[in-house]
Amino acid sequence: MSVEHVDSADDQPFYISAEKIYPQRVHGYFRRIKWALLVMTLGVYYLLPFVRWDRGPNAPDQAVLIDLPGRRAYFFFIEIWPQEVYYLTGLLVIAAMTLFLMNAIAGRIWCGYLCPQTVWTDLFLAVERFFEGDRHDRIELDKGPWTANKILRKTGKHLAWLVVAWWTGGAWVLYFGNAPTLVGQLAHGTASFAVYAWIGILTFTTYALAGHMREQVCLYMCPWPRIQAALTDEQALNVTYRQDRGEPRMSLKHSTKARAAGLPAGDCIDCHQCFAVCPTGVDIREGSQLGCIQCGLCIDACDTVMHKVGRPDGLIGYDNDINSARRVQGLVPVYHLVRPRTILYAAVIAIVGSVILYSLATRSFTGLDVIHDRNPILVQLSQGGVRNGYTIRILNKRPLERKFSLSVDGLPSGALLDAQGASTPAGGLPIVSVEPDKSLEARVTVTVPPPLHLPETTDITFRVVDIATGEKAVTRDFFKAPKPE
Ligand code: SF4
Ligand code: SF4
Repeated sequence: MSVEHVDSADDQPFYISAEKIYPQRVHGYFRRIKWALLVMTLGVYYLLPFVRWDRGPNAPDQAVLIDLPGRRAYFFFIEIWPQEVYYLTGLLVIAAMTLFLMNAIAGRIWCGYLCPQTVWTDLFLAVERFFEGDRHDRIELDKGPWTANKILRKTGKHLAWLVVAWWTGGAWVLYFGNAPTLVGQLAHGTASFAVYAWIGILTFTTYALAGHMREQVCLYMCPWPRIQAALTDEQALNVTYRQDRGEPRMSLKHSTKARAAGLPAGDCIDCHQCFAVCPTGVDIREGSQLGCIQCGLCIDACDTVMHKVGRPDGLIGYDNDINSARRVQGLVPVYHLVRPRTILYAAVIAIVGSVILYSLATRSFTGLDVIHDRNPILVQLSQGGVRNGYTIRILNKRPLERKFSLSVDGLPSGALLDAQGASTPAGGLPIVSVEPDKSLEARVTVTVPPPLHLPETTDITFRVVDIATGEKAVTRDFFKAPKPE
C-alpha cells in the first residue's frame, strides 16, 4: 500500500508508488547479444565451482575456491595466501578502471549487459513471460480477478523464481567448499548451518531484487548511475533518439499524408514500441535519463518498426551528444573513441595488469615473517651473554613437505640460533620441516656469548633456505643488547 504526503503548497505528492513495468518481448541484434551474455555469465557462475584443477595430492582440486578455514584463495594455477591480499587490491583497481573505460566508450553498457542485477532481472522476466505471457497478457492478468488460471500462473512463476533464486544462493556457497561434497551434503540435508543460512539470505535477496524490485534497484539503490554521470563526457556513446530524423513525430497515417503533401514529417510514428520494451520504463525520445541502463532494446524495437514502415533503421542508436548536435546542423557525425581519458584508463589497466603478472611469474614459494619479543626485549645471561627471543613464521607455498635451514646474519661469530622443534645436525644449522602448503610458527632464540661488543641495537637478517632446492627467504629484524657502559 502506498503512502502519499501531500504538499499543501502545490499539491505535489512527496512520495508516489512505483508503477509496475511490463517490458514487452523484443527481437533484434542487441537482444541477441544480451541473451548470449546472459547464458555465458550465468553458465560461468553456476558451473565454475564444478571445474577441477589438479594441484597435486596435498591441495584442493577445485579450480576456483575460497578456502576460508585454510585461509587460501585458489584461481586455477594461482594460489593466494593472506599475506598476498595486495593481488586483490590490484584486481579491484583493474575492475574499477575497466568500468571507467567502458563508461568512457559507451556509457552504462555495464548496467545494460553485464551487471548481475540486469542479468538476473532478464532471467526472471523470461520466467515471468513463460508463465504469464507477454506485456499485454500480463497487464490483463494483473487487472483481472483472481481466477484459478491466474492463481496457477502466479504460483508457477513465483515457485520458478524461488528455484532460480535458491540455485543462485546454492551456487554461491559452492565457491567456499568442495562443490561435489557440498552438493551431496545439501541433497542429504547434512550441510552446516552457515551453508543453509547463506543460501537462505541469497535466495531471499535474489528473489526480492530480481523478481520484485527490478528497475527500482537501478533507479534508487545503485550508486553507479550517479558516479558514471559524473565520469562521462560528451564523447561517450549512449542510446540516443535522433531528434533530427524523428521529429515532428506523428502517426504513420499522418506522416504518409504529410509527406504526400510535401509537409515535414519525422520518421517516428509515435508507436511507443521503444517505451514498451524498456525494462526501466524510460521513453528515450525525452532525452538521456538516469533510468536508462543503455541496454539497447529500444534500438531493436524501433529498428523493427522502421523495417515495417519502410524507413531506414537507426532512428534510435548508440551515439553521443556532439553528434546529435552535428546532425541537427546537417554535419557528418565524428567519433573519438581514442582520447586522453580512454588512453589513461587503458594504460592503468595495462600497467597494473603487467605488475600483477610479473609479480605472479616471479613470486617466491617461500616466506618468512619474524616478530621480536617485546617483554622481555632481551635477557642477560648469568655467564655474561645476551639472548633475544622471536616468533618466526615460515611459509611453504608448495604442495609438498619441505625442510628449511635457519640462520641469522649480522651478529659476531659465536652467535647461536635455536629454534623450537628443530633438529640440529652436528655443526650445522637448525632444520625445520614445514607441511605442504602450510605455514609453521616457531619460537626462536638468538644468543650472543660474552665478551659483548655490541651497540644497543644491531640490525640482523633471518634467513630460511630450502635444503633441497636452495630456495630462500629473508627478513630483517634487530638484536637488542644492554646499553654500553
Ligand atoms: S519505436 Fe521508434 S517509431 Fe516507435 S515511438 Fe519509438 S522512436 Fe518512434
Ligand atoms: S531507454 Fe532503451 S536503452 Fe535505455 S533502458 Fe530503456 S530500452 Fe534500454
